[in-house]
Amino acid sequence: MKKIPFVSLENQNAIIKKEVEADILHTVASNHFILGDKLEQFEKEYAAFSNTSYCVGVGNGLDALKLSLIALGIKEGDEVIAPAHTFIATILAIMEVGAKPILVDVNPNTYTIDYLQIENYITAKTKAIIVVHLYGNPCDMERIESIALKNNLHVIEDNAQAHGASYKGRKTGSFGILNATSFYPAKNLGCFGDGGAITINSKTLYEDLKKLRNYGSAKKYFSDVSGCNSRLDEIQAGILNIKLKFLKDWNNERRTIASHYHQLLDDRIKKQSITDNSISVYHLFTIECQQRDQLQDFLSSKGIDTQIHYPIPPHLQKACTILGYKEGDFPVTEKLSKILLSLPLFIGLAYKDIVYIANQVNTFYKKNDLLF
Ligand SMILES: *Cc1c(COP(=O)(O)O)cnc(C)c1O
Repeated sequence: MKKIPFVSLENQNAIIKKEVEADILHTVASNHFILGDKLEQFEKEYAAFSNTSYCVGVGNGLDALKLSLIALGIKEGDEVIAPAHTFIATILAIMEVGAKPILVDVNPNTYTIDYLQIENYITAKTKAIIVVHLYGNPCDMERIESIALKNNLHVIEDNAQAHGASYKGRKTGSFGILNATSFYPAKNLGCFGDGGAITINSKTLYEDLKKLRNYGSAKKYFSDVSGCNSRLDEIQAGILNIKLKFLKDWNNERRTIASHYHQLLDDRIKKQSITDNSISVYHLFTIECQQRDQLQDFLSSKGIDTQIHYPIPPHLQKACTILGYKEGDFPVTEKLSKILLSLPLFIGLAYKDIVYIANQVNTFYKKNDLLF
């Protein structure tokens, strides 16, 4: 039987294999593994790619979010607004600096933070809004920036799923005062391990972050602040330098796959709506199904791997009981956690496989009378 994985990095890796092997050997021979030339080059190039003045490489996406909050002085007693429907790391970052996440439900069509509800949640303690460009789809940054400006709040982007996406011609990862991202292997831009970065325009914040990721020191053995150890190492930075050159093509390929899905799947199957005036990079392609778990089993029986993003929303996770939320607090998020299914989407996914997947999905909806 046909076997289609949910994600495979095989094709991507084949394209860059030779260059990556040479680069890793080069790093090994250089004897310089941490905070070297390769990281400096990547930070320059990723800042240029993002249209920001600076970039600071860090250990992972969670640290990128955490260090962004710390750099802004956000701490216990502060509140930070974030979408209820997101990967848990967005919320854990806020909790880890001692601040309180204030969740806001998402728009049922775009799955991004419902900006119409944000102002209901702003209090005297609110310091920032973290927006998440979920599944590669940019948030409505114009609305969010105007709410932030009016209420004197910082905007931080969680750009972990949207490297290269844009809103009104401007790249995501360039709107917030600080913008965090992740290079976890399966992201649109991923390394061969853990990695992350923050893109910024402020020179002061840039200098602060360089200290914060490295024991609080700009000069070896001189610590100015209490920092942590969260650095993007030379091997990962070298790999990212190579992959960054392909990101534009790879994002185009993701958009092509998504457009095939749009064409081939029955029109009546609900999919994520892309925010007006924006370009998604389709980190994921999700569909809504009232019998989601049965659909997943059916596809699995046909050799098609799928995933659920995300089966338990952050506010109902055990790790977040301290926040005091309960079932029913965020109806859209809770509904999405029950009906969304992510279909295979990766570089090198063949057109005939997309046709096969779409046909199987259509068959399931017809067979179960789900089309109306
Ligand atoms: C992957 C991801 C993160 C966390 O990144 P890590 O590098 O795994 O720590 C944060 N936010 C979102 C939206 C993500 O998808």
